[in-house]
Amino acid sequence: MSVEGVPASAGAPLAEALVAVIRAHAAELSAIDGAIGDGDHGVNMTKGFGMAADRIGSRQVSVSEALQIIADTLLADIGGAMGPLYGTFLGEMAAASAGTDVIDASTVEGMLDRGVDAVLELGGARVGDKTLIDVLVPARAAFRHSRASGATMDQALAAMAEAAERGKESTRDLVAMIGRASRLGERSRGTLDAGAVSCSLLLGAFAQTLRGAITPPAERHRADRSAAQPESRPQATG
Ligand SMILES: [Mg+2]
Repeated sequence: MSVEGVPASAGAPLAEALVAVIRAHAAELSAIDGAIGDGDHGVNMTKGFGMAADRIGSRQVSVSEALQIIADTLLADIGGAMGPLYGTFLGEMAAASAGTDVIDASTVEGMLDRGVDAVLELGGARVGDKTLIDVLVPARAAFRHSRASGATMDQALAAMAEAAERGKESTRDLVAMIGRASRLGERSRGTLDAGAVSCSLLLGAFAQTLRGAITPPAERHRADRSAAQPESRPQATG
């Protein structure tokens, strides 16, 4: 019996998707950062992900290799807080997906575990501090919970992306407790955290790319298999 998963060779399309989503939202990321930070988040992220894309070029790389190249680039070439945080996150995800032919749901859970735990340790932020942790922690929890509830890899990835989106939105009403924005105190309330926004975008692109590459193709169940889809709306086919 074959394991449901994504060929580990799919590094190039994954890297393209991550780079594309950052480029598409660069201006938005800088505008959000500008509201309570220094306004450079979109520029920094676009620079880092663009440099990584150039380094990958047209090579066929594995998922692990692609994530490692992006991680190394962010760590080496992007300053501030976000280079080290994303570099560490993606580097740990790369390590957790190395040496396997198929990225299955267990692999993804291991990637999220290593990545999220490393960022928790490095950044010192916790849920509620108005950072990318408000995205990472619920996203990882949703993936785990979905798997434990019997969801397919496709469903677990969808649940993860939805939790990331909700986590991003949760930062709007929070007061920043860490980093530059924390100096604003109450005045940081009412705007999204830029790192939470980019993190939600990256996890969304990660989930979407993997969902589109799952073999055997994910079965699209209707209402009766809807434990993870309580609204029982028709399943998207994309
Ligand atoms: Mg900034």
